[in-house]
Amino acid sequence: MSLERIWAGWRAAYIDSVTSEPSKDTDCLFCSLATADSDEVFVVARDELVFAVMNAYPYVSGHLMLAPIRHEAELEGLGDDEAAALMAITQRATTALKAAYGPDGLNVGANLGRAAGAGVPGHVHLHALPRWGGDTNFMTTVAEIRVLPEDLRTSWQRLKDAWPA
Ligand SMILES: [Zn+2]
Repeated sequence: MSLERIWAGWRAAYIDSVTSEPSKDTDCLFCSLATADSDEVFVVARDELVFAVMNAYPYVSGHLMLAPIRHEAELEGLGDDEAAALMAITQRATTALKAAYGPDGLNVGANLGRAAGAGVPGHVHLHALPRWGGDTNFMTTVAEIRVLPEDLRTSWQRLKDAWPA
């Protein structure tokens, strides 16, 4: 199977999951990822409050998403404990990304609301991705489907190996 076909499969599944607004938690991609088998959905780390998962529709190899376990749409809706845990797991993500990829820089951020580019506006999440000098600017990167040099399982394994204890 070609890499292109593998990616096409991921994209189809992902697009199916985000084309309609979740009407309840069980329809939410992030709620599904939060409870699914880590090896099947490429969860890199998970605790009782937050988790880190590979983006199945990455802008670049190593693209991680960090989210609370609890279904919550608004960043300001997170409890202090969840907000602290989300930042802590984001710090571990940046540590792992630097160790695994040696990037020139990182983008860390959130798209809050569909108008801001959120694919899953109902469940707040952060993105963390490696960047290199000379790659496309962030807005271009997030708007384009890109050809990726590394499959998700490889990225997942690299980041798990580099994840700080
Ligand atoms: Zn959710």
